[in-house]
Amino acid sequence: MEHARPLPDYLVRRYHGWKATGYEKNKGWYLQLAEDGQHPRAMVVSCCDSRVHVTSIFGADQGEFFIHRNIANLIPPAETGGNHHGTSAAVEYAITALKVSHLIVLGHSSCGGVKGCYDMCSGNAPELESKDSYVGRWMDILRPGFEKLGEGDDESRVRQLERECVVISLENLMTFPHVKSAVEAGRLSLHGLWHDIGAGDLEAYDPASGAFRPV
Ligand SMILES: [Zn+2]
Repeated sequence: MEHARPLPDYLVRRYHGWKATGYEKNKGWYLQLAEDGQHPRAMVVSCCDSRVHVTSIFGADQGEFFIHRNIANLIPPAETGGNHHGTSAAVEYAITALKVSHLIVLGHSSCGGVKGCYDMCSGNAPELESKDSYVGRWMDILRPGFEKLGEGDDESRVRQLERECVVISLENLMTFPHVKSAVEAGRLSLHGLWHDIGAGDLEAYDPASGAFRPV
């Protein structure tokens, strides 16, 4: 693969800094993680957005969370047919192999993926309607959420859609037989969260009211 290049200098420097300090101080912990394997209690599905740091929010160490990130923290509905399903594979592994007790879907404010879906469904992003748009076809998962939005200005409706995105992902999770059986047997609990990046706030989905409440 002739296109691969050496790592940029700033990353080489940062790596050596971590190896000499962060790693060296916690060497025993890393060796134990390597020997014992991973036993995370929770899986987190969050957005690729660089501002979303679930390990920071919960003060989590290595080995605590099995994390999958994709555009707009979406879970597609269960389907087979030979296509590549990275998110579905990660969910399957977490439930069947790691046997996590909690599966958390973490949405966030000013999500570019959700905004793109909102624009696409509003007729303002024709490029996302193309069958060649990976983002557009991925965000099709959220189209049913757009149909449910109430009245309001664009900004408030996009915020509604960010939360709807979390709910749809939770609903889609239950279409996977291994998730459904684990939930019904009490071995797995599903959780929906929405994080306000600027305010540092965290809201949790309350199934009784259908609303998100501050944590
Ligand atoms: Zn996002």
